[in-house]
Amino acid sequence: MTGIADEALIAVDTVMDRISGLADPTLRLGVTGLSRSGKTVFITALVHNLLHGGRLPLFEPQKSGRLRHAYLEPQPDDAVPRFQYEDHVAALIKDRVWPESTRAISEMRLTIDYDAGSFMGRLFSGGRLALDIVDYPGEWLLDLPLLSKDFEAFSREAIELARLPIRARLAEPFLSRLQTIDSQKEASESEARELAALFTDYLRACRTDELALSTLPPGRFLMPGDLEGSPALTFAPLLPAETGGGRNSLRAMMERRYEAYKTHVVRPFFREHITRLDRQIVLIDAMQAMNAGADAVADLERALTGILECFRQGRFNAVTGLFSRKIDRLLIAATKADHIHHESHERLEAIVRRLVDKASERARYHGADVGTLAMAAVRATREGLVEQSGQSLPVISGVPIAGETIGGEIFDGQTRTAIFPGDLPADPNSIFQKGQDGEPAHPIRFVRFRPPMLEKTAGGAALSLPHIRLDRALQFLIGDRLV
Ligand code: GDP
Repeated sequence: MTGIADEALIAVDTVMDRISGLADPTLRLGVTGLSRSGKTVFITALVHNLLHGGRLPLFEPQKSGRLRHAYLEPQPDDAVPRFQYEDHVAALIKDRVWPESTRAISEMRLTIDYDAGSFMGRLFSGGRLALDIVDYPGEWLLDLPLLSKDFEAFSREAIELARLPIRARLAEPFLSRLQTIDSQKEASESEARELAALFTDYLRACRTDELALSTLPPGRFLMPGDLEGSPALTFAPLLPAETGGGRNSLRAMMERRYEAYKTHVVRPFFREHITRLDRQIVLIDAMQAMNAGADAVADLERALTGILECFRQGRFNAVTGLFSRKIDRLLIAATKADHIHHESHERLEAIVRRLVDKASERARYHGADVGTLAMAAVRATREGLVEQSGQSLPVISGVPIAGETIGGEIFDGQTRTAIFPGDLPADPNSIFQKGQDGEPAHPIRFVRFRPPMLEKTAGGAALSLPHIRLDRALQFLIGDRLV
């Protein structure tokens, strides 16, 4: 597909979106983040709170009493799976277990009726906004730079990354097998599959809790969606060769598949989905990275740089030959703030700001209005103070998931427990510093809690999911479109 043909298709999509937007103003909100950053929980909590009149005092349309009614409608894109909202709500509320995480792209439409407070609002929107929420793995965004790289450049960089001290041990089986491969000899499918499998195993190993590394393209190797096992995913980087192989060589096969991955997977994803977004939230698990240490924090910052590149104005033209409809608001939010006491929330927010500042400096980012936030889409804990040796310590309490452990104690999934999570550093710069003996400098005591019971809304009539600052996220992302 040429750049010009791509542009024509995007233009058609944009016109179709605009035409349907005339009937009912629409806003396409992208929700992304690396796996387990909290996308599914965020969307479920957002929709549930809007449908059931949750407590959202910092969401201006609700505060001023102008929200009338929110309801689900069929989504506009038939070819995209629907976000399984009902299943996720049932898991969270009925079973009090966390829902199944995002594995591929999905979408849903929530329509909001409101009293337009302004003359312009009444004139143009008629007091109705269709919010199309698009959930997709952040891993897929990290593929954008591949579009401007040939197979040799991709191989060189992937192997350089694999040889970094923090990754080399995990990449060892892949790297040592590579040494034994003669990429100029005739290709065999079994060799291609073996290399792709070893490469994928290494990428997966980087995502474990202890390492929590973030930058791992190609994104579909970790999150294949419906492409599991397809030839477009059966390739791996190769060591440089003196001469290019013949048409039937392993090298030529890998190169063809890499190009097919770009043409048939990466480019259509950006063209069909990313270029159509109006607003975007990127969720990050900053505390998990901090718990894994300074290398993981640096890696998260590198991933954020890549993500900001994707939303940089003009970047699409330069890299991909695609042009993007401008995303005008971008929110980077650290989730799971209910794992720390509220005294540390400002510190977590300062850490997110620091990460984003560094990433946007590196990405030379300019474009959308960028916001930062520390939040919990679902608050699974309460706060309290515990007296210890004449001192009162701020603690959080919740019901740890069965099997979780802390200090040797194993939890049964039923008992409410208070823990002192520890403090976040006052100086956000210190998250980039290494601790002693390679230990994380600022570990947080972390236990996974079960989802909470519903709580009464402000009016007391309905029940909704408790959260921390979800209303601030909503205000930033859609508040200005409900005026
Ligand atoms: P996804 O891969 O981005 O879709 O991640 P999920 O939304 O499935 O979240 C991954 C896990 O993080 C969940 O299973 C929960 O254990 C945890 N989690 C996500 N959001 C929250 C939150 O707001 N509060 C708490 N306590 N845990 C959360």
